[in-house]
Amino acid sequence: MKITVIGCWGGFPKINEASSGYLINEDGFQLLLDCGSGVLSKLQNYTKPAALDAVILSHYHADHIADIGVLQHALLIDSFTMKTREESLPIYGHQESEGFSTLTYKNITTGVAYHPDEAIQIGPFEITFLKTNHSVPCFAMRLEANGHTIVYTADTAYKEEMIEFAKGADILLAESNLYKGMDGTSAGHMTSEEAGIIAQKAGVRTLALTHLPHFGDIKQLKEEAAQLFEGTIVLAHEYLEIGL
Ligand SMILES: [Zn+2]
Ligand SMILES: [Zn+2]
Repeated sequence: MKITVIGCWGGFPKINEASSGYLINEDGFQLLLDCGSGVLSKLQNYTKPAALDAVILSHYHADHIADIGVLQHALLIDSFTMKTREESLPIYGHQESEGFSTLTYKNITTGVAYHPDEAIQIGPFEITFLKTNHSVPCFAMRLEANGHTIVYTADTAYKEEMIEFAKGADILLAESNLYKGMDGTSAGHMTSEEAGIIAQKAGVRTLALTHLPHFGDIKQLKEEAAQLFEGTIVLAHEYLEIGL
């Protein structure tokens, strides 16, 4: 399994970069996890949009879905020209808020509902869900394939249940939109310290801090998390690759 960070900025993309988007590869299967602003452009340094096997979305905030429309255009144009793919691209999303209906586009993409209480199989990945504490319905995901596990917190304030959900993961891809000492309860986001606590209690191997803030010195996030987590910590950046 390999994760490639396509975009790691919270809320909106930093200049010349992208907001949330992660390409997850296993056995040649390419799953795009979230598709925020700037992701379609940046993704093309790694793969052709038409070569994706599936997309899954945590929630319908623009910094996670803004590029779904242009992904659909890219595939439509490919269907007229290169004809790379024969089948409609599945885009998995939840149905607990508006947004799901936009995932189906002509015969180009097909919205597929995931039900948070049921595990689903997408290619080699078995995926389970945990509802997060966010301003809109949003789901953390645990992806397991061939004995490896990635847990993605998506957007969330600190949530005790995340510890059990992330238990023993190889990689915890945790949002850290805030710095130590801040209170993310009403914003629905976590601090570096909270990400560190979850990583430590869940016993994960690597903590990757992402959904980064546009203020302060982001290097500090890693130092703050390291005061609470003894394992490996990486700060997400464009095209960071984490292999398993
Ligand atoms: Zn976000
Ligand atoms: Zn959000």
